[in-house]
Amino acid sequence: MADVKRRLGVHTSIAGGIHLSLERARELGCSTIQIFSHNPRQWLANEIPAGASAQFRELRRTYGIDPVYIHASYLINLASLDSAILERSIQLLARELDLADLLAADYVVLHTGSASQDNARDARRRAVGALRVVAGTKAWKAKLLLENTAGERGDISSRMEDLSEIIRETESALIAGVCIDSCHAFAAGYDLSREQGPAQLADEVERYLKADSVKLIHLNDSKKGCNSHVDRHEHIGQGSIGIEGLKRFVNHPVFRNIPLVLETPKKSEEDDPRNIKAVREFLGE
Ligand SMILES: [Zn+2]
Ligand SMILES: [Zn+2]
Repeated sequence: MADVKRRLGVHTSIAGGIHLSLERARELGCSTIQIFSHNPRQWLANEIPAGASAQFRELRRTYGIDPVYIHASYLINLASLDSAILERSIQLLARELDLADLLAADYVVLHTGSASQDNARDARRRAVGALRVVAGTKAWKAKLLLENTAGERGDISSRMEDLSEIIRETESALIAGVCIDSCHAFAAGYDLSREQGPAQLADEVERYLKADSVKLIHLNDSKKGCNSHVDRHEHIGQGSIGIEGLKRFVNHPVFRNIPLVLETPKKSEEDDPRNIKAVREFLGE
């Protein structure tokens, strides 16, 4: 039976006011959403006026958009060898969590970090230390999800085993689980275009992560090939994973009930509706 309740959304712009992201999601027929709470390429995260956050919370209830995911800034690097960047990263992550609570968002999605001058094991240790500092700052309602990365130079979190290690060693309820990005997994060597690809990824999820750890899927096709270590998202069905691979992935028993958020390219007004339609088709909706 088709799961008609599958949560589906897109990463949506907050341009013009944070509540407008919900209007855009609503227009696209989304039941979940991911946003940036501020410009993800600036260290400064502007205040969200009280009126705007209240409006966001109310609109989200009215539209039944759930869960709400906030993607953390790309500048955060918890594995940085530069102590000033590490310190700013810790502060900005705490700020992301403050803003998430202000918006009553459920999760903050984080790329843990990278350190190309260092070995990955030591870099992960540094990230664990930083995560512990953040977790010790205060208790937030919003929880962190660590996202698998594409295995670009210095990446510390492209394998399920890496994510597991970071979560286990951080030992904090701040981290609720992981977000799995299909493009990143493919770029890191999980061949989702092949018949057995989704099952192989699912096996690793079950082997290394606790049951119910996957709280979000970023559903993106990939411009580059499997094991390319390049993070370039493509429209659904137009990349190297392809429609059949993505369909098998989202319908695999281990991934079947997990909310989907698209981070596909937006070059025209038609892109989001077309990508959403393609996903709905293979969900059988
Ligand atoms: Zn992603
Ligand atoms: Zn990406």
